[in-house]
Amino acid sequence: MSKSLAIHLYSRFSRVLYTMNPTCTFCKIAAGQAKAEILYQDEQVTAFRDIHPVAPTHVLIVPNQHIESVNHASPKDESTLGRLFLVARQVAEAEKIANSGYRLIVNTNADGGQTVFHLHMHLIGGQRMRYPMG
Ligand code: AMP
Ligand code: ZN
Repeated sequence: MSKSLAIHLYSRFSRVLYTMNPTCTFCKIAAGQAKAEILYQDEQVTAFRDIHPVAPTHVLIVPNQHIESVNHASPKDESTLGRLFLVARQVAEAEKIANSGYRLIVNTNADGGQTVFHLHMHLIGGQRMRYPMG
């Protein structure tokens, strides 16, 4: 992300909360500037339904902060990355698929099938997943 495009979001104490990329759809969803069916949001992550679901439940959990991919994550992101898992579990429980099971997927770059370059975790479930993967 070019520095000139970065927008800093400030708390009421003027502390930088996080940096968004104004051309990134997932940044806009997290900032409330683009439409999505949001299921959960806190100061670190946002969960919303995928627009092209591949299973009865298909939710994306994203950091509010623009991180392009796992390749761009750094130690300061550790708590946010952990939060993605805990929120995935919470959403799975709310969607009543925690017991039947679900799959969490994080695609990275071309071979991983990443098409949106804002790190996201797919939570898919509500049906038996195909296996093996790859
Ligand atoms: P990936 O291929 O892992 O990068 O996944 C990107 C996902 O984002 C796909 O499943 C898309 O259907 C989904 N997606 C793209 N744009 C939106 C959007 N505006 N709202 C919700 N989901 C989206
Ligand atoms: Zn972004």
